[in-house]
Amino acid sequence: MNARIVVAGASMAGLRAAEQLRAAGWSGAITLVGDEPHLPYNRPPLSKEVLAGKAPFESLAFRPRASVSDVEWRLGRTVVAAGLDERTVRLDDGTELSYDGLVVATGMRPRRLNCPGPKAGRHTVRTLDDAQGLREALTRPGARVVVVGAGFIGCEVAATAVGLGVAEVTVVDPLPLPMAGPLGELLGRALLKRHEERGVRFALGAGVAGFTGGDRVTGVVLSDGSVLPADVVVESVGSVANTEWLEGNGLDLTDGVLTDACLRAGGRPDVVAVGDVARFPNARYDGVPRRVEHWCIPTDTAKHAAKTLVADAAPGPFAPLPSFWSDQHDFRLQSFGAPVLGRQDVRVLDGDPEGDVLVGYHHDDRLVGVVALGGQAVAASAARYRAELLKQPALTMTV
Ligand SMILES: Cc1cc2nc3c(=O)[nH]c(=O)nc-3n(C[C@H](O)[C@H](O)[C@H](O)COP(=O)(O)OP(=O)(O)OC[C@H]3O[C@@H](n4cnc5c(N)ncnc54)[C@H](O)[C@@H]3O)c2cc1C
Repeated sequence: MNARIVVAGASMAGLRAAEQLRAAGWSGAITLVGDEPHLPYNRPPLSKEVLAGKAPFESLAFRPRASVSDVEWRLGRTVVAAGLDERTVRLDDGTELSYDGLVVATGMRPRRLNCPGPKAGRHTVRTLDDAQGLREALTRPGARVVVVGAGFIGCEVAATAVGLGVAEVTVVDPLPLPMAGPLGELLGRALLKRHEERGVRFALGAGVAGFTGGDRVTGVVLSDGSVLPADVVVESVGSVANTEWLEGNGLDLTDGVLTDACLRAGGRPDVVAVGDVARFPNARYDGVPRRVEHWCIPTDTAKHAAKTLVADAAPGPFAPLPSFWSDQHDFRLQSFGAPVLGRQDVRVLDGDPEGDVLVGYHHDDRLVGVVALGGQAVAASAARYRAELLKQPALTMTV
């Protein structure tokens, strides 16, 4: 019998899933289907080093483990439909692949602004091709840049643009502070100050109503009627899960693919979800299913999901400790745990928000996350809290 696991999505989570399937003992065939033409590559440098022209593509490509040297890659191919009862997926060229196990690893795509005005000149950053196109636009002499969205990627792009010598870089967001949604007010204020000191302008408390220009963007119209001149607009307003191909199978696709604690989708023993697209309960916290768009999650989910698919006994509940970093200008944000669950009770653990600072996030007086802002030393002190966060008992949320 030719047993086969199909992995839909050939990026970081797809690659890690294939490697972990081998590590869990799967010796059958593995087929990875990915709609990008490239082998899996690392996305974090796209808004940083690639945009800055400091990292060529070859440096981004993941080096797959030897255990997956025999997998089949179907690149430049989109999975367009799945029949989970029949155990088949259909590709955009009409090919039907049958499977014994299916790994959903189709990730996210950027959300787009649905506003009137021209499209040319408006960019997103998710793929290598996006980053290369944006770099070309940013390096045109005299470019005026408006970044819509003061989240992590928006602020990284703004910082990189300033680093490239772009004179006019403005970040627009309806919220009053950058990155305050996930990090809270204290760090939001500190980040605003740091960005402004390094040349980024902000138009906060304003939404985008539309774009001016004929064939190409010439400006961004804000909700208060004012217009920011712009040749380059970067839309960094969140992401949308790539799950349309799974519709009609009775799965909960409200925001990504809802899974159980073993990362199984729809209670099916032969279908798991991994990476950004998986909405899973984390037994370390309140058990509420959430998607987590951090670099550590593809590997954590792949390890767990591979055991679910392949091992005789399902693994225990999934309880990863999330972590992320974000490089902006000359500083780094380094996070461990779930700051978002402790935004109501934020305490300075070390340093000073005016300089390098380590902040603790608490829920019911219990530490649920730490974030360092500054240089290497403070990032290292955040890492020292990892062990403490790992020791904490499971959280029962009271709100
Ligand atoms: C610009 C950027 C900067 C980042 N910076 C950081 C950082 O500094 N720190 C951090 O912790 N995290 C960062 N991240 C997040 C991290 O990179 C992601 O969490 C990670 O890439 C998720 O991997 P994934 O494989 O789950 O999803 P993806 O990387 O989105 O992969 C999904 C793949 O599936 C493909 N696909 C989609 N639909 C189909 C289909 N129907 N058929 C076939 N293929 C399909 C997609 O094209 C894509 O190749 C960043 C992300 C981006 C985009």
